[in-house]
Amino acid sequence: MTRFDVAIIGAGHNGLVTAGYLARAGAKVVVLERRPIVGGACVTEEPWPGYRVNTFSYVAGLLRPNIVEDLELRKYGYETILYDPQGFYPFPGGRYMMQWNDTEKTVREIAKFSKKDAAVYPKYEEFWDGVLDLVEPLLLAPPVPLSDLVSQFPGAESEELVRSLFLLSAQDFLDEWFESDEVKTAFATSAVIGEMSGPRTPGTAYVLAHHNIGVLEGSRKVWGFSKGGMGRITEAMARSAQAHGAVIRTGVGVEEVVVKGDRAAGVRLAGGEVVEARAVASNVDAQHTYLKLVPRDHVPPEVVREVGRIRSRGAQIKFNAALSGLPDFVSVPGGPGPQHYGAIELCPSMEYLERAYDDGKYGRFSERPFIDSEIQSVLDPQMAPPGKHVMTCFVQYAPYELKGGSTWEEFKPTAAERVLDTYSEYAPNIRDVVDRWQIISPVDVESTLGMTGGNIFQGNITPDQIFSFRPVLGWSGYRTPVPGLYLCGSAAHPGGGVTGAPGHNAAQVILEDLPKIPV
Ligand SMILES: Cc1cc2nc3c(=O)[nH]c(=O)nc-3n(C[C@H](O)[C@H](O)[C@H](O)COP(=O)(O)OP(=O)(O)OC[C@H]3O[C@@H](n4cnc5c(N)ncnc54)[C@H](O)[C@@H]3O)c2cc1C
Repeated sequence: MTRFDVAIIGAGHNGLVTAGYLARAGAKVVVLERRPIVGGACVTEEPWPGYRVNTFSYVAGLLRPNIVEDLELRKYGYETILYDPQGFYPFPGGRYMMQWNDTEKTVREIAKFSKKDAAVYPKYEEFWDGVLDLVEPLLLAPPVPLSDLVSQFPGAESEELVRSLFLLSAQDFLDEWFESDEVKTAFATSAVIGEMSGPRTPGTAYVLAHHNIGVLEGSRKVWGFSKGGMGRITEAMARSAQAHGAVIRTGVGVEEVVVKGDRAAGVRLAGGEVVEARAVASNVDAQHTYLKLVPRDHVPPEVVREVGRIRSRGAQIKFNAALSGLPDFVSVPGGPGPQHYGAIELCPSMEYLERAYDDGKYGRFSERPFIDSEIQSVLDPQMAPPGKHVMTCFVQYAPYELKGGSTWEEFKPTAAERVLDTYSEYAPNIRDVVDRWQIISPVDVESTLGMTGGNIFQGNITPDQIFSFRPVLGWSGYRTPVPGLYLCGSAAHPGGGVTGAPGHNAAQVILEDLPKIPV
């Protein structure tokens, strides 16, 4: 029987990144994925013939450029499209704002709402560049304790950064920059995406920062599409790892981490097969890894307690649809045009967003949800049959457990109606052009991928659950209390999003340890 150096549980993008780095360093690696396809939350599927649907994640930008280079992902099919404008924000009464990649063009858009805000915007951009300068080096290394982090950047300016990014709500943070509610709303949606938090929840300024660290095609703080769909990213990662000898098996669920003596020594698959390895890396979240996969007597009670405390609340549904035509927006009619190119953010005000959250907070799907929608086929025609389109909507707020006793399966038609009702306020033809739809609920995210609570990040990314707090205090550096077992997924620093960073960092730690592990 082959004994591997490292067995990786799960072929999410982070598991594949770990595999890629380990295989390149000469380790014998096997990746074991429960689903029939690789990619985890970064996949493209065809629920309807010819329509390539980004089932879960849908926009690219966070993947660290050095990982793209190190793993030669372009050689294996990774290609991106930087969209421009980044965002189209229609408001009631036919007004709208576009956020362009060109600062001056955006300044002109903002001036439609406030001359003062228009003047401030270039400084706001500079602020985020400064944040990126500070944060980028921290992403690709094990996390430092928050106290060390603060002391690394002495001086009033850095303290100010800590105050605003870690302690403020998005509302308070944006109030300090802008006066126009529309302008604040345009920027606030990124502060709540994936979080069961409203713009007035303390700590959401950090979530905004987390979504502002993207780098794509040489531009910073931007998003785009993965050409052919998000699945092309993970297919490229898989090919890259395989080209260096990694074995990837799909359709094999891991049931248990095998512990021999006190060390992780492999995994047992559903069906009983044991795959032996000198080390095991889990791409699955901390709750599943510690509480379901590792035999309980090998996890110290204090770690069990800490893991039980991790907040992992899903907040969203995905509404994915096959379209026979494009939404015709009241504020920018016709098209295809820039209104269709990038993120279409349907959220008219800060209060609307907070009220949408109020519903979610009390266990209800928002009466009037906030919708982040993209139609990738406009810029990337291979995503849909000729003349057709594919639309993805990330919709908040959608609690994992619905008050009133409905299951998500029962509730999906009602949720779809609310999405379409809301959309039609901005594009009245939406019902005419939606041919087919599917809803991916938080329960689906959990049952398909193993993300507890349907949380898209493998654990919320609020300031109490990042850096050395992630996933639990004392075990934030990819190693675990079981020697030879590592966490390599988004549950670990620096958290969720298709960044590849946890997978990269875990690989470095494993490579440090492997020479010390008996062959
Ligand atoms: C709906 C949704 C929308 C999102 N949108 C975006 C976006 O647009 N942009 C972005 O950057 N990020 C987005 N994210 C977040 C991002 O996709 C995730 O944070 C990231 O993909 C997680 O990657 P991962 O490798 O850490 O884990 P995962 O992708 O969760 O991978 C874990 C893998 O382990 C497998 N697995 C689970 N249990 C077992 C087992 N017992 N045995 C074997 N295999 C197992 C799973 O099937 C899965 O393949 C989104 C996520 C979701 C869910």
